[in-house]
Amino acid sequence: MNAHYVSTSRSNPLFYIFSQLYDQTASINSEQQWEQCKEAAWLEFWQREGHEQLEQKWHKLHPDYTQEIDVATSEQQENWETLWQEHVSQLSAHFWHIFTCAFQNYENDLTNGLRKLDEVVDVNEDFADLNITQEIDSAESSESNDDGESYLTANDDPDVCDEEQQLRLLGLPTSFGTQLAQKKRKARPQLVSESDSDCDLNQFIMPKDEVLHTVQSGSIKKKKKRQKKTKIPESLRNNNAMLKYWFKRFSLFSLFDRGIRLDDESWFSVTPEKIAKQIALRLSCDIVVDAFCGCGGNAIQFAKTCRRVIAVDIDANKLAMAKHNAAIYGVADKIEFIHADFLQFASSTRLRADVVFLSPPWGGPNYQKSVFNIEEHLLPVGATQLMQYARRLSNNIGIYLPRSSSINQVVALSKVGQQCEVEHSYLDTRLVAITAYFGDVIKTQQQPQQDDEDQ
Ligand code: ADP
Repeated sequence: MNAHYVSTSRSNPLFYIFSQLYDQTASINSEQQWEQCKEAAWLEFWQREGHEQLEQKWHKLHPDYTQEIDVATSEQQENWETLWQEHVSQLSAHFWHIFTCAFQNYENDLTNGLRKLDEVVDVNEDFADLNITQEIDSAESSESNDDGESYLTANDDPDVCDEEQQLRLLGLPTSFGTQLAQKKRKARPQLVSESDSDCDLNQFIMPKDEVLHTVQSGSIKKKKKRQKKTKIPESLRNNNAMLKYWFKRFSLFSLFDRGIRLDDESWFSVTPEKIAKQIALRLSCDIVVDAFCGCGGNAIQFAKTCRRVIAVDIDANKLAMAKHNAAIYGVADKIEFIHADFLQFASSTRLRADVVFLSPPWGGPNYQKSVFNIEEHLLPVGATQLMQYARRLSNNIGIYLPRSSSINQVVALSKVGQQCEVEHSYLDTRLVAITAYFGDVIKTQQQPQQDDEDQ
């Protein structure tokens, strides 16, 4: 089964989420379900980060824009606007290209996850091919993985972007298609009036109350130049398998350079920041328990969406790092760090939480070779037992699991007659992990619209 690998930036990869509800049968049986999932993911991407990505890249391309627009004549303003529209069309096509690759991977990954246990799956190791001699921050180069497959970069030709598919799915006008994406940027664009433009993509991607076709000059602060390069830890420098985690350190913690602390184990077990943020938004509540807090990737984000975070870990060193890291993000005072075995904690505490988040040990990065048995290979106990402990605190649960986890087993964790939601998280086109939600935190399914004729 072919997987599509497209990378944009190791520091700021695009993040796509594909999510579906399952009842007792873990199956996706209708074309409509796939299409709904795809459409929801694309819309969600735009609302969450699409516009921000557009602006960031715009200000990078035109660092003087903010000053120039203040003194621009009306003709120059129109030129800027045309340039912005072109920028929107081109980048949107790039994003769509990566998205469609991610979605194809999702179909494959889900098919793998639905296989019987112990069948070997074709899951490629992220950055397995990494050429360690390259510039650390240069993410815009073509790569190939150990299967000889090419990793496309975001600057590669987005030819495979299926325009017809886009239009069918989203009802978008043609200027958002491959044609525009292929066009080379002109030295200075021709003036077009808003009514001449057939691109109303902005209506789709911008929040409703924002002015259409304009760049928000003040909304993106220019990133300060990184003052000093943090040194690669000795343990990573001498270990090629681990070095890949160093390259994506800013996707793990955007404030990495402020002194984030990680031990060797945490480099591969910490939840990347964009995913942790998404989970924290989904599980936003009054009191959340982060049962296996580790070095704090999730707890930090929970502290931004919940009133109180109870962060539990059996390892005192990990807790100390988590506390230190939380202070860097300015949220340490919202987190209560508890040094305990979660199983004992859940059995003995009188605390009732609104939500429990479980990110149990997977046993290191070698989990992806076959369909991952969440009953046998999770630590400290199998998933069913772990859920029983968690349900002592709350019925609302999120569990973060290896990407190759058996979906049938995940769905079986739901209570009788209840649904669960499984979210596949992709950074660029790579599946990082899955998150399953149970209880009131699942997104309720939208009722399919009935045709008038049916009524
Ligand atoms: P992974 O296998 O996903 O890399 P880790 O081995 O880093 O995960 O484990 C995640 C965290 O869970 C670690 O910080 C570890 O100390 C913690 N942990 C392991 N067992 C327990 C437990 N019984 N109770 C609480 N925390 C635990």
